[in-house]
Amino acid sequence: MNILILGSGGREHALAWKLAQSPKPINLYVAPGNAGTDVMAENIAISVNDFESLKDIVKEKEIEMVIVGPEDPLVNGVHDFFLNDVELKDVLVVGPQKLAATLEGSKEFAKEFMMRHHIPTAAYQSFGKNDVEDGYKFLESLQPPYVLKADGLAAGKGVLILNDLNEAKQELRTMLVDAKFGVASNKVVIEEFLDGIELSCFVLTDGLNYKILPEAKDYKRIGEGDKGLNTGGMGAISPVPFADKSFMYKVEEQIVRPTVEGLKKDNIPYVGFIFIGLIKVNGDPKVIEYNVRMGDPETEVVIPRIKNDLVDVFHSLKTQSLNQIDLEVDERTAVTVMTVSGGYPEAYEKGKEITGLDTKNESILFHAGTTRKNNKTVTNGGRVIAVTSYGKDFKEALTTSYGNVDLFEFEGKYYRKDIGFDL
Ligand code: ATP
Repeated sequence: MNILILGSGGREHALAWKLAQSPKPINLYVAPGNAGTDVMAENIAISVNDFESLKDIVKEKEIEMVIVGPEDPLVNGVHDFFLNDVELKDVLVVGPQKLAATLEGSKEFAKEFMMRHHIPTAAYQSFGKNDVEDGYKFLESLQPPYVLKADGLAAGKGVLILNDLNEAKQELRTMLVDAKFGVASNKVVIEEFLDGIELSCFVLTDGLNYKILPEAKDYKRIGEGDKGLNTGGMGAISPVPFADKSFMYKVEEQIVRPTVEGLKKDNIPYVGFIFIGLIKVNGDPKVIEYNVRMGDPETEVVIPRIKNDLVDVFHSLKTQSLNQIDLEVDERTAVTVMTVSGGYPEAYEKGKEITGLDTKNESILFHAGTTRKNNKTVTNGGRVIAVTSYGKDFKEALTTSYGNVDLFEFEGKYYRKDIGFDL
């Protein structure tokens, strides 16, 4: 079977790494991929949003399964593009159609979905350009801190949490009237602040059935103590010690099942991953956000804990027989520590040679921003390599990752030394 993965991060390397372990005869392609995926797959230099080139590749390589890593192509309708093309419509696309991708692409859409299906989330109201005064009134009715969210995709920067009422009003105006986040802030969702501890739940669904994958917790800020600017993620652990059985039962009954049932009731077809950003407040789960794909770096700890052949798991999506898969999860903890380029998440340089990659390393190195240049592996992004390890608990797994993270080097390399230390 010929399989194509779209994307170029650690998430896509982890998916390729796992698929490559299938005992079935498969040919793997990754577009555009990185220096890590290059080892077990053929990288194809096309953009994930260039659907016409994608079609050419799918035909040329006789691809039967496309796994979509990032949200962009999903929100842009890559799945719909396949369904609407006579030559592509039988290809299995793992990743939802554009309508379902709106769960990630519009926070207002996601909130309305949760309200309709009684899924616990923060109380909210949404405002447009002409409702600034109503927005002020709503802010006045809330206790600080104030949570303002641009409705659309804003590269992870569209959420503001402010303590001062006047500042919150000012920002609301800047978002709505001065288009602070462009069209993404044509509408703004204002939410009640939830005080709790966050984690992520991952679900795979064929539209009828679902499987809950191992949960994970990620570390978003650049600095130790979770301080400083937001990043794509500096590390992750799975399982999450505070997500015990009774909590995960609530997650399934109050959130996962109503979400999958809600999609069915709303006639929203969905084949792929659902990533549910959760917050645990006084022992109960509430939804912070939906994403319509796997997380990065969470994939680098979730996928290594799945024991099944991923080809079988994905294949069952096509026949809506995911219920026949018996998901087997590795009991061990997996952790990952992300190494990043100096300066990230602000300006950073690319093209730095990465040395030491040939040194024997008992951790798994998932490449993110890397590429091959003149027979060398060089940095090609802010997040460079995720160092994943197993252990009997997160402390043991972290000891392994931290023991191996300096076996490779590149100029300006930085990583957080406190992943998991808050648990
Ligand atoms: P991401 O960067 O994960 O894509 P996003 O821009 O889509 O995020 P959200 O996940 O909705 O936006 O919010 C970003 C972060 O803001 C959350 O991870 C959480 O820490 C915080 N946050 C969002 N909503 C609330 C809330 N109601 N109460 C408390 N904190 C919140």
